[in-house]
Amino acid sequence: MSTRRALLERDTKRMTSRTRRKRRRMKVFDKISLHRDLGPDTRSPACPPLSTTSVIIVFHNEAWSTLLRTVYSVMYSSPAILLKEILLVDDASKYLKTPLDEYVKQFGIVRVLRQKERKGLINARLLGAGEAKGDVLTFLDAHCECFGGWLEPLLARIAANFTNVVSPDITTIDLNTFEVNKPSPSASHHNRGIFDWSLTFGWDGLPEHDSKKRKDETYPITPTHAGGLFSISKKYFEYLGKYDDEMEIWGGENIEMSFRVWQCGGHLEIIPCSAVGHVFRTKSPHTFPQGVSVITKNQVRLAEVWMDEYKHIFYRRNRKKEFGDISSRLNLRAKLQCKNFTWFLNNVYPEMFVPDLTPKLFGAIKNKKKTSCLDTGGTDKNSGKNIIMYPCHGMGGNQVILLHSLEIV
Ligand code: UDP
Ligand code: MN
Repeated sequence: MSTRRALLERDTKRMTSRTRRKRRRMKVFDKISLHRDLGPDTRSPACPPLSTTSVIIVFHNEAWSTLLRTVYSVMYSSPAILLKEILLVDDASKYLKTPLDEYVKQFGIVRVLRQKERKGLINARLLGAGEAKGDVLTFLDAHCECFGGWLEPLLARIAANFTNVVSPDITTIDLNTFEVNKPSPSASHHNRGIFDWSLTFGWDGLPEHDSKKRKDETYPITPTHAGGLFSISKKYFEYLGKYDDEMEIWGGENIEMSFRVWQCGGHLEIIPCSAVGHVFRTKSPHTFPQGVSVITKNQVRLAEVWMDEYKHIFYRRNRKKEFGDISSRLNLRAKLQCKNFTWFLNNVYPEMFVPDLTPKLFGAIKNKKKTSCLDTGGTDKNSGKNIIMYPCHGMGGNQVILLHSLEIV
């Protein structure tokens, strides 16, 4: 045996006998590994573990930097154990091709999927959802930045009840300066999502009775969601009928999903403990290959499927147009035994102003020359304000006047 090896063996023997002596003197807690495994999760079912999520970001001709800032922001503000993957779904953009594929390779968890032709955000989200491997789908627009701790509260609500469909509080990223508006630290002012009878989405404060009732609650429910940023259990998304894949390009799908979630037994919530910034644009930057009437088509489809007789209120203000085949969506509504729209209005949005379903007369009221019309000058939210005379546009909208009664009082 070489001298070197003999010395090494002697040292090892000394070391082990020294370690053994020391161990005998050690307290029990010192003997336990610093990194021990407590085995599988044995907590009560009342403390469900959080599921993993796939973050799905659909995009059409977005700015390179804004899109990648969204990706970095998701990666750096989400716990790795919860973030299964980020799926970027290209809705046939003109650019953002090979350089994007090459750039995201370094991250490992980012994949780019592509629609061959422009179909719009609804089908792009469906493509992402079909490929997703996470248990929860989290959709984000391609111009978002997440605040620390944004993800866990969303996943926690879904862990508590898989029928919760949850959105973060959405703060504004300034369109011109990209300055990010911080979420308000006071939980007292919350916004909820609403809609008007043109089926346009809007924001509103919580109604007085609701803010009082919910003062100590963290989870305000909302009649509708903005639809770009939300999480939903993948299984529940599939059970609920995903999206209406005949809806094209942009618009209406958020109201459709909101009615569907509520009427078919789910809950729509905005979670103030989760905050994500979003660039709100003042007008749509998108082209509409078949014209903007595609938005009306989407809205007519949702009105026909979910709104029962209330759809006529929409048609008074907006011309009905060809809406294609809705039989599979009607079958879905029947299969899931969804509640009717009266239930939705009474229980989820009782503050909604509901015009007479059977007015005596309705239409435009014109001056003698038939050039000027009575006009409510704004949306339904303006009801109660003075009406004005405005050039007749023949489009319905704010120039539809209802006569409820022919009795003179
Ligand atoms: N988008 C898309 N295809 C379209 C229109 C929009 O993939 O035909 C994407 C868009 O890039 C964005 C998301 O869908 O990431 C939502 O669109 P947008 O931000 O314009 O909607 P908004 O936030 O204004 O409602
Ligand atoms: Mn957006």
